[in-house]
Amino acid sequence: MNRNIPSISKLNNLFLDKELKPSELFEQVYENASFTESILHAHLELFHDEGLENSKKSDERFLKGESLGKLDGIPIAIKDNINVYGYKTTCSSKMLSNYVSPYDATVIGMLKETGSTFTGKTNLDEFAMGSSTENSAYGPTKNPWNPDYVPGGSSGGSAAVVSAGSAVASLGSDTGGSIRQPASFCGVVGFKPTYGTVSRFGLIAFASSLDQIGPITNTVDDARIIFDNIQGYDPKDATSIKPQYTEPKNKKLKIGIIKELMQEGVSEDSQNEVNKVTQLLENSGHEVLETSLPLTEMALSVYYLIAPAECSANLSRFDGVRFGLREPASGSYEMMNKTRAVGFGEEVKKRILLGTYALSAGYFDEYYGRALKVRSKIISDFQKAFDDFDFLISPTTPSPAFKFGEKTENPLEMYLSDLCTIPANLAGLPAISIPTGLSDNNMPLSIQLMGKPCSDYSLLDLAESIEDMVSFNHLPKITKGDNES
Ligand code: GLN
Repeated sequence: MNRNIPSISKLNNLFLDKELKPSELFEQVYENASFTESILHAHLELFHDEGLENSKKSDERFLKGESLGKLDGIPIAIKDNINVYGYKTTCSSKMLSNYVSPYDATVIGMLKETGSTFTGKTNLDEFAMGSSTENSAYGPTKNPWNPDYVPGGSSGGSAAVVSAGSAVASLGSDTGGSIRQPASFCGVVGFKPTYGTVSRFGLIAFASSLDQIGPITNTVDDARIIFDNIQGYDPKDATSIKPQYTEPKNKKLKIGIIKELMQEGVSEDSQNEVNKVTQLLENSGHEVLETSLPLTEMALSVYYLIAPAECSANLSRFDGVRFGLREPASGSYEMMNKTRAVGFGEEVKKRILLGTYALSAGYFDEYYGRALKVRSKIISDFQKAFDDFDFLISPTTPSPAFKFGEKTENPLEMYLSDLCTIPANLAGLPAISIPTGLSDNNMPLSIQLMGKPCSDYSLLDLAESIEDMVSFNHLPKITKGDNES
C-alpha cells in the first residue's frame, strides 16, 4: 500500500498477534506529528494525553483478547468542524476561537464505541469554505508532497495528516468536494458517502443539503472500515436515511466517462489519469464508454447560489449571543454587527452576502429558485445516466495541487477547482477519489468514481480493484525524519 503506515487491517493483525501495541502506534504517529507539524500546520490541536490514555485502554483489551474490532486502537484525526465533547470546535474561525463543544457529534460517539483514539483536530478553510485551506483564520496547512503547494480544501488538514503519517485516517466534510479534492492534492483516498447515510448531527453546518462527513485514508479498505463504522440512520439528523445498499447486476461493469469533465479547462495530466484507468478497466473485462451529462457544466453556478444561500441562513446563529465570540458594544445591534465584522473572515462574509442577495425578495425566484430547478434537472440527468451505467468516472480535480497565492486573487479560478466534485454533492451521490499517478512536478493525480445513491459499498469495491491495478506507492516529501532537509 502507499504509505509509511500500514493499512488498518494490517495494524489490527499486528495488534492481535501482539507484534505492536496500540499505545506504541499512537506514540509513533504522535512522533510523526512532532516532526511534521512545524512545517505542515495540519493539526490545530493535538490530543496527546487523552489519546495516549485511550490507546492504553486498547492495549488492555488486546491483551485480554477483548478487542472491539478493526478500529480499536487506530489513531484518527478529526476535522475541526466536527464536535468532540470537551474540546474546542473552531471551524478555523475567529468566531469560534473559544467555543468548547458540550457534546459529541454522532460520528464521534460511534467512533468512540469502536475503541479508536483521536489524534486531534485538523485545520480547514473557515467554516469549510474554500479549496486550499488558505482561508483558515489560524494560517494555512502545507502540502506534504511539497510545502510550496496547497493541500487543497477545505479538509486540507485532514488530508495532510494522513499523507504525512501523523494520523492513520481522518474525518473530513464534503459540501462541494472538500474531502475528495484535498485527498487528491495530497495523494490519499477521499470518500464522500451517499447524502444521508452518515449523520450530520454535530457537524457545524455550512450548506445542509450538501454537507456530508466521510473518511480520508491511505487505502480504499481503510475508507470502507471507517465508513462502515460511522454510517447508519440517526434520528437526531432530519435528513438521515435508512440506507438500503445496492449491488450492480453484473460482475462485468459498465462505466461511463463524463465527457464534460474531459474537456478544455481540465488539464491533460488529469485527463490522462482517467484514460490510463479506463484502459486498465477494459483490460480486466469491464465496458467503458463516453457519456454526456450536459448539465454538469452548470453545476458550479448552481452550487454557488445554493451553498451561499444555505450558508447565509446557517451562519446567522453566530450573532454574539448564542455561540462563540462577542464584541463589546453599547447596544445589541451594534454588538451583533461588530461581532460578525470581527469574527468572520473575507470569504465567509462574501458567501453570506452572496447568499443573502440570492434569497432576497425580488431576486429569490430569479437566482435561488432557478438554481433549485437546475439542481433537480442535474439529479434526473444522473438518474438517467445510471439507467445505462453502473458507475461514472472523471478526474477528481481539473489540475494537480497549485501553489500558495496562485488562486487567491481570482476567486473564480479557485471555485473551478471543484468543477468535477460538485455534481455529486448536488445529486447526493457517493463519490471517491483514488490516487493514481504523479504529475511532471511530482504532485499526486487522482481519478474520481461516482455511483448511484446507496451504491457506496460496490463503489468502494470498484475503487479497491482500481487501487490494486494502479498500485500507487509513492511517498510524500514531508514525512518523519526527512523534513530537516
Ligand atoms: N471548495 C468548495 C467551497 O468553497 C467546497 C467546500 C466544501 O466542500 N466544504 O464551497
